[in-house]
Amino acid sequence: MRTQVAIVGGGPAGLLLQQLLHVAGIESVVLEQRSRAYVEGRIRAGVLEQVTVDLLEKVGVAERMRREGLVHDGFALAVDGETFRIDLKGLTGGKTVMVYGQTEVTKDLMDAAGERGCPVVFEAEGVALHGVDTDRPFVTYRKDGVGQRLDCDFVAGCDGYHGVSRPSIPGDVLKTYEKVYPFGWLGILADVPPCDHELIYSNHERGFALASMRSNTRSRYYIQAPLDTNLDDWPDDRIWDELAIRLGPKAAANMTRGPSIERASRRCAASWPSRCGGAGCSWPATRRTSCRRLAPRA
Ligand SMILES: Cc1cc2nc3c(=O)[nH]c(=O)nc-3n(C[C@H](O)[C@H](O)[C@H](O)COP(=O)(O)OP(=O)(O)OC[C@H]3O[C@@H](n4cnc5c(N)ncnc54)[C@H](O)[C@@H]3O)c2cc1C
Repeated sequence: MRTQVAIVGGGPAGLLLQQLLHVAGIESVVLEQRSRAYVEGRIRAGVLEQVTVDLLEKVGVAERMRREGLVHDGFALAVDGETFRIDLKGLTGGKTVMVYGQTEVTKDLMDAAGERGCPVVFEAEGVALHGVDTDRPFVTYRKDGVGQRLDCDFVAGCDGYHGVSRPSIPGDVLKTYEKVYPFGWLGILADVPPCDHELIYSNHERGFALASMRSNTRSRYYIQAPLDTNLDDWPDDRIWDELAIRLGPKAAANMTRGPSIERASRRCAASWPSRCGGAGCSWPATRRTSCRRLAPRA
């Protein structure tokens, strides 16, 4: 098989790149190691910055987001319990952010790929990149146990930090700058209404906290935690108690507690690959950072 661009990884970066190429009249094939159901079921980020909303509009995949997403004109900064609102829209000449889950974006991009005849190969096993420093690169993989070869002009590595693309780039070409921060994050997702109609970023002497949301009925919260924190030592109640302290009395009074539907503990690092870094991690929440984030954004 031959295409112009072989895209490795069917996350938001790979799928959006495919639509951008499609709009520009460039053919591509996405190779994704997981099943469609698995990718669609992955719960991750939830807030889109203006630049991403604009890109989704540009490629014509914004209809459901416009209908179902929540537009936020601002957010709050809390310092030791006192809250200040930042008028994002007023201060930036009209820019806003959109609460619309990464899972939903991914579904919309997959639907668009299907409708527009853009090939996405799910459950592509053993993807391997060849000749990436030549004019004739190609990618091999197995589908349903049968070996396949995809010839192309370019390979776009959108398979994240742990994917196969990054280690395939010759060492003398790839240069990575990385900063590892001495703290991590505990996150909780729950089907409860948010404590505020906008996001709250809170700076507290006990550490940072973030009150975010996925919708009017699903909330996402984070607290900064030491690197050696064990998630098992933090049952839901302890996380809710800590959030109430760090977010301040007003947010605490409006906070609805409930059982978590997802909990996570994450490390914190930022890395900047130079040259041939691929398109991976172009998701807005991480932008120039690699798969691991500097701070929770949503
Ligand atoms: C558990 C978790 C929770 C997160 N929560 C938040 C959050 O709340 N807020 C926030 O702002 N950000 C969050 N993030 C970060 C955000 O999800 C990422 O920035 C975003 O997914 C990056 O998109 P991407 O397309 O570059 O990579 P990914 O979404 O990682 O997509 C890469 C794709 O490549 C595929 N792949 C990997 N290796 C191969 C291979 N060898 N062959 C073929 N395919 C391969 C993977 O299956 C995947 O589908 C979270 C990340 C994780 C892991």
